[in-house]
Amino acid sequence: MTSQGTTKAADTAAVLRTEKLCAGYGGVAIVRDLDLEVRSGEVVLLLGANGAGKSTTMHTLAGGLPVIGGRVLVEGSPTTSPAHRRCRQAISFVTEERSVFRSLSVEDNLRLGRGGVEPALQLMPELRPLLKRKAGLLSGGEQQMLTLSRAIAARPKILLADELSLGLAPLIAARLLDAVRSAADQGLGVLLVEQHVRQAMQMADRVYVLRRGEVVLQGTAAQMRDRLAEIEDSYLSEGEQPARAGS
Ligand code: ATP
Repeated sequence: MTSQGTTKAADTAAVLRTEKLCAGYGGVAIVRDLDLEVRSGEVVLLLGANGAGKSTTMHTLAGGLPVIGGRVLVEGSPTTSPAHRRCRQAISFVTEERSVFRSLSVEDNLRLGRGGVEPALQLMPELRPLLKRKAGLLSGGEQQMLTLSRAIAARPKILLADELSLGLAPLIAARLLDAVRSAADQGLGVLLVEQHVRQAMQMADRVYVLRRGEVVLQGTAAQMRDRLAEIEDSYLSEGEQPARAGS
């Protein structure tokens, strides 16, 4: 396992930490003994082939799946609170499913967010000319800009972003990742699952690679960039069968 290098957020306490986290479905652990942490101000990339357990990890951290073993700590405190309370506390969770109210205007969608309209527009000025448009009429990329800007404007401590740009053009993915990076530079801690691996690697601080539900590599993004071809060949190229507890 690669040792973790120095990052600019290295001296900051973890806003999110897992200790020997086991997570899965129906009591069967897919993700096992996961130790990871995200500090304020850093973007941490979670990589792995299809089925490696990335989404299972994200849903568990967001509180949507029960913890089977180990602990999740938010700002140093163990948490078992259900998803809605966890969100109110500190965590925003965004996925490839664009969470917009399709029949409401962009403006009303932003108004319904905890951060309000202006902070979201500062993050994503592209939405300003679209304020009066129904969110359901936006392109997929615009809907995701709306989702992301509303999530970040709410000023969470932690952003969990799971395949934010799935199915979107590389230019839009770059724009979304740019917004995530800017928010991290303002102090947000980000855990990112992203199909545009090379782009994500450019803006991330640290990387964990999951294989069959276990961390097999971790390090700074700079270290991982040097090994990108190897990582893609060995860990990202093919789908995986689920790891079974005890196997
Ligand atoms: P992908 O990139 O394909 O989404 P992933 O790394 O996010 O992959 P997960 O979605 O976490 O992987 O899936 C990990 C394993 O858990 C897979 O084998 C998957 O089939 C299994 N799994 C996912 N959802 C469920 C579920 N609701 N019930 C049972 N098993 C599930």
